[in-house]
Amino acid sequence: MSNSTAIVRRTAVCENCGSAFAVRVWPDGRIRPIGSPANCPCGGTDFRLLS
Ligand SMILES: [Zn+2]
Repeated sequence: MSNSTAIVRRTAVCENCGSAFAVRVWPDGRIRPIGSPANCPCGGTDFRLLS
């Protein structure tokens, strides 16, 4: 009954184009934009979390 599997909602920016997105951060560290398949519309797949 731990929270280790919780998915956290955060804001992140695309490392490629700098666009900001609402994202979900998965327990294993994956970052996925909410409402998008997987990537930024620019094709970027790397995202940096905003604090
Ligand atoms: Zn982008």
